[in-house]
Amino acid sequence: MNAHVQGCAVSAAKEAAPDPVRRENGQREVFCGLTGIVWLHRKIQDAFFLVVGSRTCAHLIQSAAGVMIFAEPRFATAIMEEKDLAGLTDANDELDRIVTQLIARRPDIRLLFLVGSCPSEVIKLDLSRAALRLSQTFSPGVRILDYSGSGIETTFTQGEDACLASLVPALPPLGTSEDQLLIVGSLADVVEDQLVRMFDALGIGSVQFLPPRNSTALPAIGPNTKFLLAQPFLADTARALEDCGATRLPAPFPLGVEGTTAWLRAAADAFGVKDATFVSVTQPYRARAVRALAPYREKLAGRRIFLFPDSQLEIPLARFLSRELSMHLVEVGTPYLHREHLAEELKLLPIDVALTEGQDVDLQLDRCRAARPDLVVCGLGLANPLEAEGMTTKWSIELVFTPIQGYEQAADLAELFARPLVRRAKLVI
Ligand code: SF4
Repeated sequence: MNAHVQGCAVSAAKEAAPDPVRRENGQREVFCGLTGIVWLHRKIQDAFFLVVGSRTCAHLIQSAAGVMIFAEPRFATAIMEEKDLAGLTDANDELDRIVTQLIARRPDIRLLFLVGSCPSEVIKLDLSRAALRLSQTFSPGVRILDYSGSGIETTFTQGEDACLASLVPALPPLGTSEDQLLIVGSLADVVEDQLVRMFDALGIGSVQFLPPRNSTALPAIGPNTKFLLAQPFLADTARALEDCGATRLPAPFPLGVEGTTAWLRAAADAFGVKDATFVSVTQPYRARAVRALAPYREKLAGRRIFLFPDSQLEIPLARFLSRELSMHLVEVGTPYLHREHLAEELKLLPIDVALTEGQDVDLQLDRCRAARPDLVVCGLGLANPLEAEGMTTKWSIELVFTPIQGYEQAADLAELFARPLVRRAKLVI
């Protein structure tokens, strides 16, 4: 289901250089935060996500994660019926009954997330209180937390932010006076393994990850924690970590050769890694990644791309596409612009880039149609109509499901943008 937010007229505001931004506040076409369950349930292997929502919510995650036919799923929906909507006492009793049944049937669950939805928020069902109440019953065997995945004023990657932020109060205190590096944001296991090897070679020592692969291995946190965001959509999580005394290391995001190098460099500088060591460790990876990117640069250089606001990855992607693949940015939309977290990225964008924060989908579609870009990056809801109009599209959600971070994935990331153009060229022939 799309989250449709009826809004008021467009307000276009220009700000001072270097990044004038158009702001729009109209109807949006985005998925809701429940979508994050699709990748989070694969990442935290002993967690279960119980959506407290409607049949629509159940359909959304069931179809988004429809690949789960061979495994016992680790997500479900407690469907709110009419009687739940009529009286809160019923809804709480029903929820307790479902959770008790679930935990009895699935003794492998160590961490249970109660995930709020539009319907649970509309009737003001207090899931934080429910999580506390149920924790008293099921702790210490099962930890029960809650967060919101609702589509009211959110985009789909905020589900991960809300989930990770809910984990922060559960992190144990860091029991060492030595600085420790924490990588924040869900990454594919293969990427995580490559990064561990890289940090090891740099001599940074043991690195922790949030989210962890297992809820029994939660990273410790404290004033000696220095963290690097691996994803650009984690504003609440970063704030919660900073409230625990941790320090964010400002950096671009690890997309492409340049982004990965700058991201690793931020950690290397913070941990006193010598320049010669940094160069000797990263140089072979960089050289290989640059070589792997070359054929894609040939295909993509000079092509015009339009990014609709959807995943919140748009700004780091735009930086990669323009600087490493020489693509021309027609418009770069982002649902929200976190100026602080994206400061290092914004510096690397072309000075005249057309940036849009928020969305008024009809106006944006008009601009896109007028520009006739070679490639449009957008949500599923816009892709089909635009393809029918003869435009070539890339689903932005694919960028969240695919391992794209780090040196070894730089060419795979470029390939994601080259593929639809190659496919379209074949169709034309
Ligand atoms: S949480 Fe809201 S937007 Fe998401 S599927 Fe449920 S009703 Fe739709």
